[in-house]
Amino acid sequence: MTSPADFHTHSTFSDGRLSPAQLVDLAYRNGVRIMSLTDHDIVDGLPQAFEAAAKYPDFSLVPGVEMSTDVPGNEVHILGHFIDWEDPTFREKLARLQESRLGRARKMVEKLTELGKPVTWASVGAFAAEGAVGRPHIALALVEAGHVTTVNEAFDRYLSRNGPAYVERDRLTPQEVVRLLLDVGGLPTIAHPGEFGDSPDLEPLLAQLADAGLVGIEVYYQDYEPAQIKKLRGLADTFGLVPLGGSDYHGLGGPRQREPGMIPLTMEPVNRYLALAGQRGVRGRARGPSAVA
Ligand code: AMP
Ligand code: ZN
Ligand code: FE
Ligand code: FE
Repeated sequence: MTSPADFHTHSTFSDGRLSPAQLVDLAYRNGVRIMSLTDHDIVDGLPQAFEAAAKYPDFSLVPGVEMSTDVPGNEVHILGHFIDWEDPTFREKLARLQESRLGRARKMVEKLTELGKPVTWASVGAFAAEGAVGRPHIALALVEAGHVTTVNEAFDRYLSRNGPAYVERDRLTPQEVVRLLLDVGGLPTIAHPGEFGDSPDLEPLLAQLADAGLVGIEVYYQDYEPAQIKKLRGLADTFGLVPLGGSDYHGLGGPRQREPGMIPLTMEPVNRYLALAGQRGVRGRARGPSAVA
């Protein structure tokens, strides 16, 4: 099932394999008509995405970002849509996160050397290119060096949260990030809550974040099954959140990968989300038809 909307995608400006323009082209070919670029802790790909989107009069691009946060025992990602991405204070905060990503990646490379699985910093840097460096770039370097055969294997053996080469990043709490996104007029949405599995921690977190101003929850995502979607929709209702969705397309392959738009997100919640953006006066930050209420 495909959707005309996709609120979660990555480009070469973080750990995606397609440039913003290639990503917009692919999304458009897949039938997507409203898309958000949500690179990790970076907004530098947005000008290129807007430029590419302008080629298609019936396509809207929503400025976005995905920010990593930590809670005990879990990593929580928060998407921010309709952000004022040019805000200097916000940009400064993102710049500090980039620096922290670099320092952390260097430490992970050192750990890999100690583990007898060396990768060169140059190789990691080449995969990261202009983007915010992340574990997927280190995973690609591990594949290139022949220590593993796939990115997934790199995560499973070394880079996952409990893996021997894992290094924590500077911690922001989800509440801090929700506030930071609201400060620039963004609509915050919790990404891939399925990461919590059956953990009892999800509901209290949603309650806290809804209080802090969380607006949406990613319900339609990659390989989420109908039963899981139903459960997440129930949580969306309980906490008054918009049930959103996104492919989280990175272009790195793997069994869970879905191309842009390849998720069962209908326009009903999307229109609710757009109406909310209209009420908050931020809908015009999208470019294209959906910018107009
Ligand atoms: P980082 O932001 O550096 O902590 O890297 C996190 C990113 O790594 C996530 O957003 C995913 O794109 C990717 N990732 C996390 N776990 C896996 C996995 N098991 N296999 C492949 N990619 C993963
Ligand atoms: Zn990613
Ligand atoms: Fe994520
Ligand atoms: Fe993502």
